[in-house]
Amino acid sequence: MLEILWLLLPIAAISGWFAARHSLLVQQEKNQQQHLPADYFKGLNYLLNEQPEKAVDIFSKFIDINEKEIDSDAIEMHLTLGGLFRRQGEVNRATQIHKNLLTHSALSPQQRDLALWELAQDYRRAGLLDRAEDLFGQLTQSREHNVHAYHQLLDIYQQEHDWEKAIQMAKELANISDEPLNHVIAQYYCELTALNKQAGADYEAIQLALSIDSNCVRASLLQSQLALTQGNHQQAINALKKVEYQDTSYLPEIIEPLKTCYMSLAQEDELITYLQHLFDKYGGISPMLALAECLSGKYGIQAATTFLTQELHKNPSIRGINYLIELSLTEENAFQTHLFLLKAVFNQLLKNKPIYQCKQCGFTGKSLHWQCPSCKQWNSIKPIQGIDGE
Ligand SMILES: [Zn+2]
Repeated sequence: MLEILWLLLPIAAISGWFAARHSLLVQQEKNQQQHLPADYFKGLNYLLNEQPEKAVDIFSKFIDINEKEIDSDAIEMHLTLGGLFRRQGEVNRATQIHKNLLTHSALSPQQRDLALWELAQDYRRAGLLDRAEDLFGQLTQSREHNVHAYHQLLDIYQQEHDWEKAIQMAKELANISDEPLNHVIAQYYCELTALNKQAGADYEAIQLALSIDSNCVRASLLQSQLALTQGNHQQAINALKKVEYQDTSYLPEIIEPLKTCYMSLAQEDELITYLQHLFDKYGGISPMLALAECLSGKYGIQAATTFLTQELHKNPSIRGINYLIELSLTEENAFQTHLFLLKAVFNQLLKNKPIYQCKQCGFTGKSLHWQCPSCKQWNSIKPIQGIDGE
């Protein structure tokens, strides 16, 4: 009996060790489970407080970015960390995580699409546009990501000036979303005219722009330029006159080309009639100054000065006063020295002043951009209005 007890003791001890070990492992596992979420939320807290570098430190402790086996719980952590690495500028590490993730079979279709989306963003950030384009192309088939993928592709094709592909993408995007894109597609057609070398291609692109967006001012301006290069001034005038019905904020853009066309046709009276019509109906400093210039040529400086003085009382304008001084300087007067000084001051003032402003982001400049260089919106840059503008 005693021998049997002696035999049982080591077995009991081993069993006890196993039990204790098992209990310890369970406890460690519990501790880990309790510990992980605590740090996970700490990491999230850093993210919320815009301290991504500290969040990266915390999340990096929990995962091996080349891990061969990833359970479904860790997938989210990998995606979060990958995104953080990219935002921190560590694109290679982000790419490594996302490529590694995509080799795992545990990914659900949604997680696979998300990992693809993140990898495409990594490639875009790294400037590998062809690879990004390929992945975004795959994501146009994803229900969750298709709209965003089309937007990314549009950005890439705009960046590459691949307007044919941009047109195709924008049309596909318009088919799957409610987004109004006709005005953007019209701009793409206008961009094509700058690249077209084939005879007749410009005309075709302008017609396509106007057919998809009849209010495309840029297409009308291009149409007038094309007519001018062919020596057809009347056709150019007809194209320019469309702007009045498309977007009156762009009327200042048509004044100079209209003057050129009408003067080439020796139709000054028709020019004055149309300028007077624009000025009476919409106001604005550009038609006012063009009218004053016509009056000065046709009836003399006094007529122009009287007209300008009268209108500037109603609508003060720096450009208007500057032109009034210029007219006054053409004749001898007692205030000539003062006027020269004033003119120099106004010239300086106008020289430093932007002419155009983006309605979307406030970007200002002296040239008309059809796509804002700052916020990338189309048709958002317009001539500045007011006392120091139009
Ligand atoms: Zn802008």
